[in-house]
Amino acid sequence: MSAGLDRVHARIAAAAEQAGRDPAELTLVVVTKFFPAADVLRLAGLGVRDVGENRDQEAAAKATQIAQLADRAGLIAPRMHFIGQLQTNKAASVAGYAHLVHSLDRPKLARALSKAAVAGDRELGVLLQLGLDTDADAAQGRGGLPPAQARELADLVAELPGLVLRGVMGVAPLNAGGADAPDAATQAFARLRCVAKELVAQHPQAGLISAGMSGDLEQAVAAGATHLRVGSAILGSRPAHG
Ligand SMILES: *Cc1c(COP(=O)(O)O)cnc(C)c1O
Repeated sequence: MSAGLDRVHARIAAAAEQAGRDPAELTLVVVTKFFPAADVLRLAGLGVRDVGENRDQEAAAKATQIAQLADRAGLIAPRMHFIGQLQTNKAASVAGYAHLVHSLDRPKLARALSKAAVAGDRELGVLLQLGLDTDADAAQGRGGLPPAQARELADLVAELPGLVLRGVMGVAPLNAGGADAPDAATQAFARLRCVAKELVAQHPQAGLISAGMSGDLEQAVAAGATHLRVGSAILGSRPAHG
C-alpha cells in the first residue's frame, strides 16, 4: 500500500512537471471501494486525506467505522468522496457523509441531494458527471450527463439550496488506453475540459475537474484535472470490479 502510494505520488509529480502545473493544485482521491475501513485508516496514517467510494451501502457503513477508528487512533478521518452512480433514494444517506459528490447526472438527483443537504443543515459540494463516450451505447450504464445538457443542470444546481456546484467529473471510455485507441482518454478529457471552461464562466466557484484513474492519470493531469481518482495502482486489484 505504502509503495503503491509512493509510486502514484511520483507519477503525479512527474505528470505535473510535464504539464507545467503545480502538484499542489492536484488532489489525490484514493478509491477504497471493496477495501475495509482498517485499510482506510492505514492510508490516513500514510497522510491520505481523501478517499472515494462508489456504493452507498458500503460507504455508509465504512464512514461510521472510519470515524470510530480514526478517533481511537488519534488520526484525522479522510474526507469521503462519492464517485458512483447514485439512486435518488440513497441521496439522503450520501448527503450525510460525503464531502463531495462527483456523480450528479440528473435533475431529480440534484433535487433529492438538495433536500437532504437542507434537512441535514449542511452545504454539499457536487460535480456534474458528464458522459464522455462518443458511442451512446457504450455510455449507457456508465452514467454521465450528455455534455450538451450540462449548462441546464448547472443552472438548476446553482438555484437549489444546500448544494454548491464545484465543477465536473468524467470517466474516460472503456477502450481508452487500448492499442486501438491510445488517445481516447486524452480526447475525452479535452471534451471534459471544454465543458468545464464554459461552466466556470457562468459559475466561478465550479472550477474543479475530477478525471483520471490508475490507467490514465497522466492524461488527466495534462488536461487540467484537479482531482484524480486512483484505486488499483495504490491498493492492488479488487476482488470484483465495481
Ligand atoms: C473504481 C473507480 C475508480 C478507480 O479506478 P482504478 O482504475 O482502480 O484506479 C475511479 N473512478 C471511478 C468512478 C471508479 O468507480
